[in-house]
Amino acid sequence: MPGLVLLVLYGVVALAPLALAWSFNLPPRAPLDEVSSAIALVATSMLLMEFVLSGRFRLISRRTGIDATMRFHQLVARPVTVLLLLHPFLYTTPLRQAGLPWDVTGQTSLGLTATGIVTGLIAWALLAALVLSAIFRDSLTWRYEAWRLSHGIGAALIAGFGVFHALEAGRYSSHPPLAALWLALLALALLTLVIVYVVRPLLKLQHPYRVTAVEQRGLKIWEVDIEPAQGDALAFEPGQFVWLTIDRPPFSFREHPFSIASAPSENKRLAFLIKEVGDFTSQIGRVPVGARAYVDGPHGALTLSKKPSAGIVFLAGGVGIAPIFSMLRQLRADGDKRPMTLLYGNRVTDQILHGDELNDMSRDLNLTVVHVISEPPDDWEGPVGVMDEALIRAHCDRPDKTDWLYVVCGPPPMIDATEDALVAIGIPERRVVSEKFAY
Ligand SMILES: Cc1cc2nc3c(=O)[nH]c(=O)nc-3n(C[C@H](O)[C@H](O)[C@H](O)COP(=O)(O)OP(=O)(O)OC[C@H]3O[C@@H](n4cnc5c(N)ncnc54)[C@H](O)[C@@H]3O)c2cc1C
Repeated sequence: MPGLVLLVLYGVVALAPLALAWSFNLPPRAPLDEVSSAIALVATSMLLMEFVLSGRFRLISRRTGIDATMRFHQLVARPVTVLLLLHPFLYTTPLRQAGLPWDVTGQTSLGLTATGIVTGLIAWALLAALVLSAIFRDSLTWRYEAWRLSHGIGAALIAGFGVFHALEAGRYSSHPPLAALWLALLALALLTLVIVYVVRPLLKLQHPYRVTAVEQRGLKIWEVDIEPAQGDALAFEPGQFVWLTIDRPPFSFREHPFSIASAPSENKRLAFLIKEVGDFTSQIGRVPVGARAYVDGPHGALTLSKKPSAGIVFLAGGVGIAPIFSMLRQLRADGDKRPMTLLYGNRVTDQILHGDELNDMSRDLNLTVVHVISEPPDDWEGPVGVMDEALIRAHCDRPDKTDWLYVVCGPPPMIDATEDALVAIGIPERRVVSEKFAY
């Protein structure tokens, strides 16, 4: 329901400029002109709401999950961009620099000033560049941080120039009520950047953490533990993640999302299991104990709360086990008696994390642990391969398991394949919660 409420709210804000423009009751122009203005009004409103859908606001991602939030952000960006790029070409009414003095409502001419044209052109070109650079981000040679900085600055410029263009050139947008709405939406959009890049870092500065341990736990996988310099660690639910900054000021762009692997019951310790993949994570083993750290969170909806179930199946791919460790550790601390199964897939056995602790957990909890390895050693006796439909069917295809909860975490291809397999064996989608380690 909360997700639905957010969707309705989104629709109301998206359509509000169009409804206001309609209420002005201006004399109609050629149909294509009206279509073009309507497109610009709705698409600009949706564009400004993209700032709130950046995945950094718990009000939204706590309800919908980070995956759905980012997917929505990315999916909306495409049609909005196409519509905004198309809209100047749809007008059929002649363009005149200052309009006609007797045509006060702009019915027979587009009275565009030079400022209106230039601001529109800048926003138009920047929008095309920004969305293309996001779609082809993986093909760019930029570092992620450089892309992220350009994305933020570009988005702020597009919003500013776009709203300026609407106020200067828009037949409807120059009317005070709609102008006020645009300025309010622009202020909200820019406020989101101020919150993420100024307000939160200032708050983090008041609540620093200290790295207490850095240890290799598996092949190219490290565990980093942090504790608050004073006071309590942040309150979180097992399965949630934070944006972590290590050995840099809290204003740094080098903050990365990592799931918390420790349980809330472990008092002050926040543990992270970090796999080496790129420029930041490949240096994680060199972080000195005692280094400062800052966290922004908790974020994410990969949690067990408000999801009652008779049993739980955890499906982890590689380091996707991190949030599941948090859940299992908390379930163990709570003395949970429900039946549980963990299907844990890795390429090689050296990637299995905390194998001994998992063995202990399978004794203390009603937990069955199944390791699946795609490149096993000669003496491996467990399942071989990847977490495919056959393996999932072998462990989950039982009538009493249909209503269990299925928690899936790992790289995107593993999650997509696992979700498809679960649906194929008859598990209802509403019983599956998942989180991808990339977006
Ligand atoms: C919700 C979530 C939870 C995660 N939990 C874990 C975890 O517990 N353990 C773990 O090892 N990995 C986790 N990851 C993945 C981890 O964030 C990336 O592997 C890490 O940020 C890569 O940084 P890099 O500089 O080493 O690599 P890069 O080469 O810079 O980046 C590799 C890829 O990681 C992603 N990425 C990099 N920086 C960021 C950033 N600041 N914000 C968002 N995405 C970024 C991008 O998709 C990028 O293409 C998680 C990711 C998400 C989205």
